[in-house]
Amino acid sequence: MTTFRGEYPLPNTKPVEKPPSRDDLEFLRETLETKRRELLSLYAHDVKVGQESADDSADDSVDRANNSFNRELMFSLSDTERQMLIMVEEAFDRLEKSTYGSCGNCGEQIGVARLKAVPWARYCIDCQESEERGVLER
Ligand SMILES: [Zn+2]
Repeated sequence: MTTFRGEYPLPNTKPVEKPPSRDDLEFLRETLETKRRELLSLYAHDVKVGQESADDSADDSVDRANNSFNRELMFSLSDTERQMLIMVEEAFDRLEKSTYGSCGNCGEQIGVARLKAVPWARYCIDCQESEERGVLER
């Protein structure tokens, strides 16, 4: 690191984040899938408890839930779980549309380290902080 001597003047001090690599995306997709399965299994468990005799009801409901949001599913989850599932689904959506990894507010690339910690992150760290302070413009 020699930048502190000013040999390389930096007009913009904000580090430029690199978009996730193929491997990163693969990893992130798997993490999201695991999370989704986890959330859906909570639901499957509830269904099993609710109707104990039906064969393969759990598998069946997971399949249906995978296709689209269903009301039953949404009702059976807690607010936090539901919120999480929505964010996970949105992340899949962004993966499909190749907009994954850019901030939903300012459009900046979200850092790979942040994505790995929070694969369903909608915003870059700056905007996330603004949102948490409730000052994000919508
Ligand atoms: Zn942002």
